[in-house]
Amino acid sequence: NLEERMPESDIPELNQLGMSFNYMANSLENVEKRRRELVSDMTHELRTPLTVVRGYLEELADNSIEPSPELYLKLVKETRRLERLIQDLQELSKAEAGYLSITLRPINLIPILIALLEKFSDQILDEGPLLKLDYPKSLPPVLADSDRIEQILVNLIGNAIRYTETGTITIKAWRDRHRVFISVIDTGIGIKPEDLPFVFERFWRADKSRSRYSGGTGIGLAITRRLVELQGGNIEVSSQLGKGSTFTFYLSVA
Ligand code: ADP
Repeated sequence: NLEERMPESDIPELNQLGMSFNYMANSLENVEKRRRELVSDMTHELRTPLTVVRGYLEELADNSIEPSPELYLKLVKETRRLERLIQDLQELSKAEAGYLSITLRPINLIPILIALLEKFSDQILDEGPLLKLDYPKSLPPVLADSDRIEQILVNLIGNAIRYTETGTITIKAWRDRHRVFISVIDTGIGIKPEDLPFVFERFWRADKSRSRYSGGTGIGLAITRRLVELQGGNIEVSSQLGKGSTFTFYLSVA
């Protein structure tokens, strides 16, 4: 609330200064609010696996459960989850604070897409989904950071594979006058219409138990959206439950 911060003055220059000051104060307040929210979300997410680990360790210590390979595996699993969370959180806080180094250069997307397709195809087992690439004969270079594009695509294709048992995952590129679009289209489990507004929010997962089982942290898409925005683009999702999802982002033609 601008007026509350610096009172109106009869001197126009002072008013001007007051406006700039109030504007800065408001932005700082927003940054601080986001930081506080991030810390509180992080604390919550980290506490869950820690509580599980502590619980088992205490029971072991007072001999109320027997040590067994299964128990140790559970402990290892939760510890791994903590590791993954911390790794993802580091990336997320860098992206949110704007500390990620981004160097925009003209980038040819096709070789990046082909390399990623090969890499992922090698990882998918025989009964897994089929990966396909669909791009026009000529695609102009985009103004982007190739490492960050790779990070975006690894997240989107990784999710598509994770949430698709069989069928196809198509990576499609096309253009309009000023932008190049890339879609990652899967034929997987899909997302409920009421869940769609939340998919890019940090720590959000549909059907938590199942996603947690699949090892997700709910951070990938939050980072992905930030990375796209930092390169001047935008990302959207459309989906049909049980039919599949399409994530589409664009970047500017160089
Ligand atoms: P996670 O590490 O849980 O995959 P993300 O931020 O990448 O975190 O995704 C958030 C949630 O969005 C996932 O837990 C999942 O419920 C849903 N989701 C993401 N991608 C897909 C997809 N291709 N198909 C269906 N659901 C998806």
